[in-house]
Amino acid sequence: MVNKHGPVHAAIGTPCWLWTGTRDQKGYGRFWIPGRTPAKPHRVAWEFINGPIPIGLAVCHRCDTPSCCNPAHLFMGTLAENNRDMLNTDRARGPALLTSEAVRVIRAAYAAGTTQAALGREFGVRQVTIQAVVTRRTWKHVK
Ligand SMILES: [Zn+2]
Repeated sequence: MVNKHGPVHAAIGTPCWLWTGTRDQKGYGRFWIPGRTPAKPHRVAWEFINGPIPIGLAVCHRCDTPSCCNPAHLFMGTLAENNRDMLNTDRARGPALLTSEAVRVIRAAYAAGTTQAALGREFGVRQVTIQAVVTRRTWKHVK
């Protein structure tokens, strides 16, 4: 169910482990463990190596590949830490305030009722930036 010979990530130097099973509409893998709620493989991979994920924390991808579950490509953080880490990554890549993964999180959180101002604080960007993301004036290519 995992292809350990995905593309080698340029910055990390090891290949992505691509989940080849079911994926949700955001590209994240899904699988089911009896007696548990549907789990995301990258979270299960993290728990297998590091133990349970505390409530409220996210397992994030260094490689920005949602279906990747290589433990070496994953790190745990809050949403804000996740975005700071991605900011650092992006600074190396070029001028971008957000990443496609952050955009997906922002749109989902906004759809779930989080205000644009709160998301701006959480992600360290201006409210107008959040507004442009959720109205799809920017990041149109991110599904
Ligand atoms: Zn990866």
